[in-house]
Amino acid sequence: AQEILLASRPQGMPTHANFSLKQIELPPLKAGEFLVKNLWMSVDPYMRGRMVDRESYIAPFALGQVLEGGAIGEVIESNHVDFPVGSKVSSMKGWRSHYITDGADHTLLPETPLSESHFLGVLGMPGMTAWTGLNRIAQLKEGETLFVSAASGAVGSVACQLGLLMGAKVVASVGSDEKAEALKAMGIEQVINYKRTTNLSQALKEAAPQGVDVYFENVGGEHLAAALDNMNDHGRIAVCGMIAQYNETEPTPGPSNLAYIIMKKLRIEGFIVFEHWQHYGEFTQQMSQWLANGQVKAEQTIYEGLDNAPAAFIGLFEGKNRGKMLVKLA
Ligand code: NDP
Repeated sequence: AQEILLASRPQGMPTHANFSLKQIELPPLKAGEFLVKNLWMSVDPYMRGRMVDRESYIAPFALGQVLEGGAIGEVIESNHVDFPVGSKVSSMKGWRSHYITDGADHTLLPETPLSESHFLGVLGMPGMTAWTGLNRIAQLKEGETLFVSAASGAVGSVACQLGLLMGAKVVASVGSDEKAEALKAMGIEQVINYKRTTNLSQALKEAAPQGVDVYFENVGGEHLAAALDNMNDHGRIAVCGMIAQYNETEPTPGPSNLAYIIMKKLRIEGFIVFEHWQHYGEFTQQMSQWLANGQVKAEQTIYEGLDNAPAAFIGLFEGKNRGKMLVKLA
């Protein structure tokens, strides 16, 4: 089997030198265990936070140890009645080709006409994040204006599409013209390429002259400042992520226009999707239907092979993905 270890902690932008590939021998299966061959693994921005040695809502990765993350695998040998050979499982055992487990924290995947890889994207954690932020945190209402940053990514592209389904006007921000065109093809009329604007706040004002009622925050920094400038009274900001800061080595200054929180009587609320997991059943029921009847489209960007996992991960911070960034292992 092969595993990818955290070789060193990134300083700033992660590089290939922060990862190392290791060949290991797996022992024979014991009673109650099964052998999984991973088919897909996820790379996610939050993993950058786990590479820093600090206390957070999730433990940091240990130096010299195999990394972890969402994965979908197939059972290829089994001494466990609940996980027979051929069953597909989801786990947090990404960044490795094969592993042995007793099944703790493993979920059997239901039969689906879609690729099981979608359980790492639109039907999994990122999709659930978009749904939670809009419904449970921001409480987006019909007729309101929604602004989404990192809008063509795993979370953002779902947030944009759900916004349309909820009857909102959607304004999106992305980092390339190609991403903007893809969102327009999905029915998002106002898309800003933030890399081409010199004044993001002004660009947002032109895209949403009626103002913004809900901001789905994925980026932070200049995006947050632009949103604050353009929020309507009693607007809500669901703070999901601040990817623009994850590779910063110095503390970044806050927006200079925070006083709008008072003047506009805003509600700004951060959230971590796992605290809302009791609603996952409700979410999958709705999302499976939207996917089946084409109301939500699930884009993916796929890198092939475990040795390309570091490139896929680094690519998240270079804007290399449209939709969910995945690594196909087998
Ligand atoms: P994405 O699929 O959106 O991938 C990251 C994207 O972010 C890139 O493609 C890039 O797109 C954009 N980006 C990267 N660096 C910058 C930058 N400096 N400024 C602006 N945009 C940048 O990732 P996810 O959908 O998985 O995650 C999106 C956000 O949601 C992240 O902040 C993540 O941490 C957060 N998150 C939070 C969760 C929670 O529970 N709170 C759960 C899951 C995700 P572009 O080309 O447009 O720049």
